[in-house]
Amino acid sequence: MSELHSRFSPLPWMQSVFASLVAQAKEDRFPHALMLEGTEGSGKLHLAKALAAYLLCDNRATQDSACGHCKHCELMLAESHGDYREIMPEEAGKQIKVSAIRELSEFVSGSSLLGGVKVVVLAPVSAMNISASNALLKTLEEPSGNTVLILVSHAGGQVMPTIRSRCQTVKPPAAESAMVLAWLGQQFDLDAAVFDRLKALAPSAPLRMRDYLESNMLSEIDAMLALLSGLLKRELTVTEVSEVWAGDQPVQRMLWLSQWLKEITEVAITEDEAFVIHPAARKMFVYLSSRHSALVLSNLYQESVRALGHLRASNNLNPVLIFEQLLGKWLALMSSTSSAK
Ligand SMILES: [Zn+2]
Repeated sequence: MSELHSRFSPLPWMQSVFASLVAQAKEDRFPHALMLEGTEGSGKLHLAKALAAYLLCDNRATQDSACGHCKHCELMLAESHGDYREIMPEEAGKQIKVSAIRELSEFVSGSSLLGGVKVVVLAPVSAMNISASNALLKTLEEPSGNTVLILVSHAGGQVMPTIRSRCQTVKPPAAESAMVLAWLGQQFDLDAAVFDRLKALAPSAPLRMRDYLESNMLSEIDAMLALLSGLLKRELTVTEVSEVWAGDQPVQRMLWLSQWLKEITEVAITEDEAFVIHPAARKMFVYLSSRHSALVLSNLYQESVRALGHLRASNNLNPVLIFEQLLGKWLALMSSTSSAK
């Protein structure tokens, strides 16, 4: 398989939607503005780039994906195709700059350098603020001639209705488990139990599952659960644990603590321990859920959400203190009961 094929072929679970969009292009029915909508981490950006490479390829009339050897494909591989633009935030999680959208409108109104179609991939739509969205809207309203815009939108993200109404929206179907397992299995050594945890952590998001495997996320989580268990058994103090977590990815850790309080509350409501994602936590969480009412647990969950907000706002509150306050309440769950269940 050529380099282009690994970079510009759709991921296995995106192949059918890719094929139907390619068929649309062959019949000259490819929209001027396409919006790919779905779960973050499902591979929409990869699909958008595969479509862009195909639309730019010289041999597209006789091929079902970018050919990999024409002048256009070579320029795409070298990331120097003059008729292709990618608009994304400079850093993950940041906004797309208005200036980037202004440059985009110049690109759209200008003529093609290589005499063919021009393609823009913009991701994600929700990273545009109001000014950037309005600037994009102007571009969408003006006849864009031979330019195709492919917008990537994460499910749940904000999209201005006026932008949405000017795009053809395509929602790729969720990846089938067997396909994702086969794809991850080619890259990592993983068993069914690990795959089940990944699916629960990142539903319908195979690329996030891959990131979790690459960053050894599950071992990190297990290590954190071991500390939590040590705290609840009073082998460690609230301050000791708080200092460790506040000093290393505090927001991520608070997200997990919050997720776990949600799981414990769900078990208290349903008495179904399947809500606990990580096997190492099951006994501990089921025990806590049996000692307290769903109301008490849900209040603590709400408190963790507020703590998360404080950590994200970084409004000079001491992160160690934020963890100490919350962990003190976790510890109190062990020494009291609030439910006669
Ligand atoms: Zn080509």
